[in-house]
Amino acid sequence: MKIYSKVHLPNIDNYKKYIDKIYKAGWITNDGKLKNELEKKLKKFLKVKNVILVANGSIGLQIAYKCLKLTGNVITTPFSYVATSNTLVWEGLEPKFVDISKKTLNIDEDLIQKKIDKKTSAILPVHVFGNPCNVEKIEKIAKKNKLKVIYDASHAFNTTYKGQSVLSYGDISVVSFHATKIFHTIEGGALITNNDNLANKIRMLSNFGKNKKKDFQILGINAKMNEFQAAMGLCNLSEFNKLLKIRKKIWYLYFKKLRYYFLFQDFNKFSSPNFSYFPLVFSNEKQLKKTFNILLKKRIYLRRYFYPSLESLSFNNNYGTCKNSNIIAKKIVCLPISSDLDIKNQNMIIKLIINSIKAKKIIN
Ligand SMILES: *Cc1c(COP(=O)(O)O)cnc(C)c1O
Repeated sequence: MKIYSKVHLPNIDNYKKYIDKIYKAGWITNDGKLKNELEKKLKKFLKVKNVILVANGSIGLQIAYKCLKLTGNVITTPFSYVATSNTLVWEGLEPKFVDISKKTLNIDEDLIQKKIDKKTSAILPVHVFGNPCNVEKIEKIAKKNKLKVIYDASHAFNTTYKGQSVLSYGDISVVSFHATKIFHTIEGGALITNNDNLANKIRMLSNFGKNKKKDFQILGINAKMNEFQAAMGLCNLSEFNKLLKIRKKIWYLYFKKLRYYFLFQDFNKFSSPNFSYFPLVFSNEKQLKKTFNILLKKRIYLRRYFYPSLESLSFNNNYGTCKNSNIIAKKIVCLPISSDLDIKNQNMIIKLIINSIKAKKIIN
């Protein structure tokens, strides 16, 4: 049997009910009823002001850049999925990578100021593995330098910061609802903003630039979420709290048994995690590869999130390496964490890992 982070498929009868509704209505995309229902439910669930659903997280980021009229370069992190910087480059913007903190794995806020130049128009931090950045510090830097802030909040669904959704920070936050994420719509994503004017503009931009009178006044693109995606989202949302409980249990079992052998990401103390990832930092890449292959032989698949460090990619600028990001990227993996992982298999994974590192406990 293969063991990996499996995609969650919701109750099929529930999904079928929605499919019946779609067939009955004869309406499959273009501002559909289910899409609107999901937006409304997410707004309530997350307690945020505006939610605009889109076809995927990447196009969501691109729309955010267009909406805020970004130019020149954008400060971002090299320790993320390629989508973070690819979307910038795709839109003719230059990613300016700032190294990460080895502790939080997020962009090091203290290094941002000195990377800002005349051509910088925005900061694009990532809440890596759902760990909120220091949003107050980032807001201060942005204000002082008159920069926009867009959060790539792909991992931060349901994450709170000081009691409210972390998605309500920045000019715009973008979350991904891809199949691999903790909450998914097959492919999908959403833009979150407190600003109603920006929300209206985002709606136009993601629907060919059409306004309410169906005139084309601004240049738009097609980023619409269709009804089958929305139906998947409605089903997954109804199961979310149940799944969160299961994932929390899995997360804590890993933590309980592995905490003596590894160091872990420093989690923002004002935040509540969403248990979407269980990252594990090895002492070096050789050790990681050894463990990786031992588990692979048992058909257990670990995910190398995130490798490589983004500044090392040929299509990104290379002003030298980001040291911490490079070191971390080479020795970090995420363990399987999905609701179907049973305790027997999880214990096997833990045992194999501990045996593979022949480790002494690092903490008592
Ligand atoms: C998943 C992900 C994205 C892209 O989302 P898609 O919906 O797959 O386009 C962007 N940034 C990060 C950090 C991600 O993990």
